[in-house]
Amino acid sequence: MPKLSVNDLAVEGRLVLVRVDYNVPLDGARITDDARIQATLPTLRLLKARGARLVLCAHLGRPKGKVDLRYTLRPVAEHLERLLDANVGFSPKTVGPVAAEMAARLAPGGVVLLENLRFQPGEESNDPEFSRQLASLADVYVDDAFGAAHRAHASTVGVPALVPQAAAGLLMERELEYLGRVLHGSERPFVVILGGAKIGDKLPLIAHLVPRADHLLIGGGMAYTFLKAQGKPIGGSLLQADFVAAAKELLHEFGGKFVLPTDHVLEDATVVQDIPEAAKALDIGPATRDAFARIIAGARMVFWNGPMGMFEKSPFDQGTLAVARAVAASTGLTVAGGGDSVAALHASGLADRLSHVSTGGGASLEFLSGDTLPGVAALTEK
Ligand code: ADP
Ligand code: MG
Repeated sequence: MPKLSVNDLAVEGRLVLVRVDYNVPLDGARITDDARIQATLPTLRLLKARGARLVLCAHLGRPKGKVDLRYTLRPVAEHLERLLDANVGFSPKTVGPVAAEMAARLAPGGVVLLENLRFQPGEESNDPEFSRQLASLADVYVDDAFGAAHRAHASTVGVPALVPQAAAGLLMERELEYLGRVLHGSERPFVVILGGAKIGDKLPLIAHLVPRADHLLIGGGMAYTFLKAQGKPIGGSLLQADFVAAAKELLHEFGGKFVLPTDHVLEDATVVQDIPEAAKALDIGPATRDAFARIIAGARMVFWNGPMGMFEKSPFDQGTLAVARAVAASTGLTVAGGGDSVAALHASGLADRLSHVSTGGGASLEFLSGDTLPGVAALTEK
């Protein structure tokens, strides 16, 4: 990797500003899935063990540049304290004298988490003054927030430009390694499984991966735009009419690679091959699940994004679960990315059986669409 790694930094006794992705789902003040916090522990433990003084910064939700205590990171600091089994200070101000004082008082190995970056309007606008205030809390900078690397914000691109060294954290490196293998690897057969609601959001990804993939299995809401393009009946199923023409073009150029659902689960849980006019398909049917599983079983490399159906509601989670089981059973390189599909994987308890489950939803899709992520570009060259 051409970027500086956290492993390359001399950190003993120095203030290290670590950008982490703690944008976790909350039920009130209770964290319902702490996978993103867990994923940063290797970097934090490494820095603590080397005597760094850690200042952590992160965003949570969309408070739109104003203090909104529904999105305070305080519960995250408390949770992190339990996971690290060490004190974690919490600065109720993101920057300014309170934050600076807490940072200055850190002993080697000490940790403080700053309040939500997005309580400050300067974060999302990448304001130079806000970047300067954040950078003043750091001797060096480490980015472990892969999930925020597709955003050119103060904490992801403003700060790295103002510090002498900006390095990738261990999670960031792992994300770039595995997603890089999906993007450039030569393992074949290479199977891409795509689902989810909006084909429009994922067209750049499809266009970038389809030339290298051997099979593209399409499920979820986006499948109906493809079926429509084939002239198949889709009833009232999800359709993005604007993208029928693009779907047609893809099917024309790469038709043999696309595998579309042949049976469907309707709203009333019945299974059909042809969707009746008034009906809505909410999941892939059992024959499709089997066909997908057979193709996945023969793969040497798998990338999966997007649920196969409306998985939030039983029994429409069965298609997604069947794909999760098939991917988990694969002996090849298996990588998943995306917000909802990754949440479904964690809920299924199968996430550990994949080679890599990305912590970045939008970031993983942009990376695999061939885009350079601004947060990665901003890091110091090796
Ligand atoms: P990801 O976050 O994994 O990239 P998306 O955000 O693209 O996935 O899509 C997830 C959403 O797609 C879920 O809310 C799910 O209910 C919805 N969805 C999947 N299949 C269907 C379907 N057949 N009809 C309607 N919605 C669907
Ligand atoms: Mg989503």
